[in-house]
Amino acid sequence: MGAMELQWIQQEEMRAKLKWLMFLRVVIVTVLLGASIVLQVGYGHIGKTTTSFSYLIASTYCLTIVYSLLLNRLKSLTLFAYVQIFFDLIFETLLVYLTGGIESPFSPFYMITSIAASVILGWKGGSLTASMASILFGLLVDLQYFGFLPETGASTYSNRETLYFLFLNVVGFLTVAYLSGGLAEKLSLTRERLKEKAAGLAELKAFHEHVVQSMSTGLMTTGLSGGITSFNRAAEEIIGYRYGEVRERPWWEIFGSPDLKELISAEKPLMEPFRFDRECRRKDGGPLVLGMTVSPLKNEEGQQIGGVWIFQDLTRIRKMEMEIEHKKRLATIGEMAAGMAHEIRNPLASLSGSMQVLSRDPRLDDEESHRLMEIALQETERLNSIITAFLLYARPSPLNKKRWDINQLVRDTLSLLRKGKEYQDNIDIQLNLASGELEAVVDADQIRQVFWNLSINACQAMPQGGRLLVITRPVTMRSDKKSPETAWIEVTFSDNGQGIQKEHMDKIFYPFFTTKDRGSGLGLSIVHRVIETHQGRVHVESQPGEGTRFFLLLPVGEMTTPVRLEKSRSH
Ligand code: ADP
Repeated sequence: MGAMELQWIQQEEMRAKLKWLMFLRVVIVTVLLGASIVLQVGYGHIGKTTTSFSYLIASTYCLTIVYSLLLNRLKSLTLFAYVQIFFDLIFETLLVYLTGGIESPFSPFYMITSIAASVILGWKGGSLTASMASILFGLLVDLQYFGFLPETGASTYSNRETLYFLFLNVVGFLTVAYLSGGLAEKLSLTRERLKEKAAGLAELKAFHEHVVQSMSTGLMTTGLSGGITSFNRAAEEIIGYRYGEVRERPWWEIFGSPDLKELISAEKPLMEPFRFDRECRRKDGGPLVLGMTVSPLKNEEGQQIGGVWIFQDLTRIRKMEMEIEHKKRLATIGEMAAGMAHEIRNPLASLSGSMQVLSRDPRLDDEESHRLMEIALQETERLNSIITAFLLYARPSPLNKKRWDINQLVRDTLSLLRKGKEYQDNIDIQLNLASGELEAVVDADQIRQVFWNLSINACQAMPQGGRLLVITRPVTMRSDKKSPETAWIEVTFSDNGQGIQKEHMDKIFYPFFTTKDRGSGLGLSIVHRVIETHQGRVHVESQPGEGTRFFLLLPVGEMTTPVRLEKSRSH
């Protein structure tokens, strides 16, 4: 609460108290003086007529009107309160004077004013008023006693009695002021404390609400009949319903769990927290897996009045778990397949060796036997190359990384290609290599295999001839938005062959996917696997009928480590 605000509140309180004082004054004056006029009490001694009292009543009314006009205009209300009380004292002294001085029945008015001052101005104001009242009363009595003012009473009191009554009154004023001041002060202190407590409570309530609403876990409470009684923001987000839509509805309807209807009920209280997983639907029909825990909700007396539920959305975690499980299964199958391929290889080697020996047998010298033997040998050869490629994919040898010149690895591969049987003269191989040496830390054999697979694919895509263009260039980029820029090498293989059909684009990196009669479908899966283990990237663009372009990105790697630049083997 700001200082300005506090001041404003105090001002308003003071204004209310002054209104109350003004009202009380009018009531007391009207009732008591009015009654004394009617009953002819108090002014009989001086023989004055009702007019004096009527004047007093009238002047009180006038003053009240003036006070009311000033009340909303004045800034210093404390001073205004003192002024009013001062005038009240003067007025009372006048009244007491008119009604017999020491014998006046109206001297207790001083006490009423002292009490009012205590309530409005506190202990200090009360004491000050009581002292002032004592002085005024004492002065009046003394002045009359010593003859400076005419006697207004019947003067039935002796000197001692006069002194005693004066003393009695003064003690009375002061005691009343002291007691009521203390009480008023205590009252205002209690009120202050209460206000502070209320503010503290409101803050605490706001804090609790804030905590509950900010939690990322769904929080819900239900009554004993199962009706939902609260629902935090996370709960709304998880299940998709607003609180207004689920209020008082049975929880099992929203969470698709009619079988657990009896979990909490008035007859069967929940003894301890209960945890369970549940598959249900969001409001929009989307699948949802929730991990839910319900605990008994108790009131201050320890009676169970419902349940507190916390729940978390496990949908993504469950999906990930399933994916991991799937991958694990695939890996096991892959292991088995690799094991089998390995086992096939040995008998295959002896099979092809035996057939080669057999083919030289003079008894098989006819044309037909020779042709069949040739086919058998070719097929064992093909089988062997498929198994080799599969093992390369399924059981890659550990990376043997060294610093290599990528340009040199490209040149090596292409010169080997030119000598191979896949290469026809109608294919024009063009190189556009970055100047100088383009170093990166890689496994040369595996990278050569990648280049080889891509070049062979390009040649096979251009049976009528065409152009294979290989470009290398250094690039700097971030591997993701947050990481700093690092150096990479980009190698592009582009051909103007038949291109890849749109529907095949997302399958070409799958093992055994092939569109070729005698293809193994393992070339690109090996490319993918090798580039992935080098923490690089592969990207393909293709236009059916126009050509294909493969982009490889290889991180330059830790060039700070002193690695010797390897000289490439010549093939
Ligand atoms: P394979 O060459 O044994 O078929 P790959 O894994 O190397 O196996 O290639 C998978 C498929 O991707 C090929 O069958 C072919 O359809 C397509 N493909 C790969 N490279 C090219 C290319 N340069 N041009 C057109 N199609 C290609």
